Amino acid sequence: MNKYKAYASIDKTRFFDTFITTNKNGKKRLGIRFYRWFSIFCINFLFFLSYRIDLQALEGTLSGSRFFGFHLIDPFISMQMFLAHHNLHVNLIIGTVTILAFYLIMGGRAFCSWVCPYNILGEISERLHKILVEKKIIRSYKFNHKIKYVFWVFFLFLAFFAGYLVFEIINPVGILSRAIVYGWSFALLIVTVLFLVEVFFAQRFWCRYICPIGTTYSFLGWISVMKIKRTNECDRCNACSKVCLVPHVLKKQDKKEITIISGECTLCGRCIEVCHKDALIFDTKLKKLI
Ligand code: SF4
Ligand code: SF4
Repeated sequence: MNKYKAYASIDKTRFFDTFITTNKNGKKRLGIRFYRWFSIFCINFLFFLSYRIDLQALEGTLSGSRFFGFHLIDPFISMQMFLAHHNLHVNLIIGTVTILAFYLIMGGRAFCSWVCPYNILGEISERLHKILVEKKIIRSYKFNHKIKYVFWVFFLFLAFFAGYLVFEIINPVGILSRAIVYGWSFALLIVTVLFLVEVFFAQRFWCRYICPIGTTYSFLGWISVMKIKRTNECDRCNACSKVCLVPHVLKKQDKKEITIISGECTLCGRCIEVCHKDALIFDTKLKKLI
């Protein structure tokens, strides 16, 4: 992908070319997407190895694990557990606080782009969806992104009233993570149906409009240290918002240099990869403090 040559768009670049980027001097290098997918692969492979060959590095699944003995718990699981059982084991609290502290620095929804295995399926379905829309074979349906807050409350209510973690039955992140570690199960049918919905019905349907895990991380993202910053180089071409999972976070900005504070940004770097003016960069609030 060479963003300097033409008005770049991930859509108009061949899928595997989006893993390689060209710098201003014409030199090719691995792109952010390559590093993201590599990160997702390594983390989930570590889960797999820890179980299969008893590596004991990252034991468990993305819902709850131990990293060299340190407990790590998905915050949304903890919230459901608390509402369903009205108490939290001390290891759950430690694991949740550790995860919260980590993503407070790295950016809340960085989990989505850099860790979650469903993100890879989501990006593949997105590509297929756009091809079908372009060929006028299907229509793309869009919804109000704020509906995810309704689902977030709904799944917590379900845990409270059922006394059970109902969401975990359909949670594609948990299903995929368990499948990677322990092998396939019929629950993968749910992931398959979701994938098909995203291909034929609505782009990134789950991640944009439903996933309460991503929504929980987004609350953290508002105050997290790692951010995307847009500099004065921006010429308002809008290429960035066209490739963004949550385009409203980029569209709303005015012309001045600005840091994207929205917790919905997943720090995927796709906007950086298409900006021909190099106006978008990863930035940390820490710089201001030093
Ligand atoms: S929104 Fe949910 S499914 Fe999508 S990438 Fe984030 S955690 Fe994964
Ligand atoms: S603003 Fe950029 S980094 Fe954030 S989600 Fe959108 S494309 Fe990804």
